[in-house]
Amino acid sequence: MSNPAMKHPRNLSGPWYCTDHNDPTGQGCIACQLCYSNAPEFFTSDEEGFAYVHQQPATPEEIQLCQEQLDVCPVNSIGSDGGGPEEQLGEAAAGQAAPPREVSKH
Ligand code: SF4
Repeated sequence: MSNPAMKHPRNLSGPWYCTDHNDPTGQGCIACQLCYSNAPEFFTSDEEGFAYVHQQPATPEEIQLCQEQLDVCPVNSIGSDGGGPEEQLGEAAAGQAAPPREVSKH
């Protein structure tokens, strides 16, 4: 599991993050380059090659792309503390939904 207590300091605020390479529990980024090669819109690297999130995903497709990076990260450094993908996709879908209609009670 990623470590939300040891996020890379440059992660953009939001649910998605990379764990700092100094994480004592061993979940820190090892600079394998996978996430920022596969999804450079959302992941990038610092001067030492360690990854952080520089753009939070917003659409279902973007969330899915970030979820794929989470799944392939060899040290489970990528985390999302905004709920699982289903929850986030639900929120994204809810954000696009029309406002609820008033229902009159008779
Ligand atoms: S996939 Fe994981 S280990 Fe590789 S660069 Fe990204 S966060 Fe670091």
